[in-house]
Amino acid sequence: MQPLPILQREEIPDEVLRNWPISHLREILIEMGKQCNVRCSMCYQTDFSPATRTAEIIWKERLLPAFPHAETLTISGGEPTILPGARELLKTVTTNYRHLKLHTVTNGILFRGIWEEAFLAQGASINFSLNAVNPDLYAKVVQFGRQQEVISNIERMVERRNATGAALKLRISSVILDETIHEMPDFIQWAADHGLDEVLFLTDFLRGIRKHSVEDVRKYIFRAYDVVDRNPPVDGVSAG
Ligand code: SF4
Repeated sequence: MQPLPILQREEIPDEVLRNWPISHLREILIEMGKQCNVRCSMCYQTDFSPATRTAEIIWKERLLPAFPHAETLTISGGEPTILPGARELLKTVTTNYRHLKLHTVTNGILFRGIWEEAFLAQGASINFSLNAVNPDLYAKVVQFGRQQEVISNIERMVERRNATGAALKLRISSVILDETIHEMPDFIQWAADHGLDEVLFLTDFLRGIRKHSVEDVRKYIFRAYDVVDRNPPVDGVSAG
């Protein structure tokens, strides 16, 4: 397949943009629904029911012409591993569109089976939303979570990725809250000790950080960078 030329926005008339051919999509992100098997204290969702599932017609029919041409597919939720549609989409992609590089964000509790095999075969990245490494802290932030299962799923993915040489980036992320900000250095150290590639810190714009002084926040960030410097294979401290 001939690569499409890279176009500049000013070269594309509005009329063409309005009718942009679906086969020109290169990166596709599908939010498959908002259902989730945990309730994080900072989650902004208001509905976790099956009613939030994405209509099948979108990925079974409308987006189908895009898959042969696209390069990456991000499957997101809610929690993708509990969404029947996400599982079905994964089967379609691993059977018919093996060139697609997969990305996902998961709480990791059920990341095994078809998810594990699909991402070892054609995964580009997995973001495990771990949120805390201290078990008591995790229990406070990720209500109904099962941290031990998440950790064994992460450890197994690291081990299998390393054994197979799969080009799969493994990342853990945390939403920085008043309760978790002090854990940033330990969170990065945990990632380094467990062979992960990246750590992502996100901020909660609604709640912010209210119970720590600016000096304390700076102190935690300095310590976090210090841990990064001492563990070069782990990529940066990012803020989303
Ligand atoms: S894992 Fe994500 S979707 Fe589920 S409750 Fe937590 S923040 Fe919300």
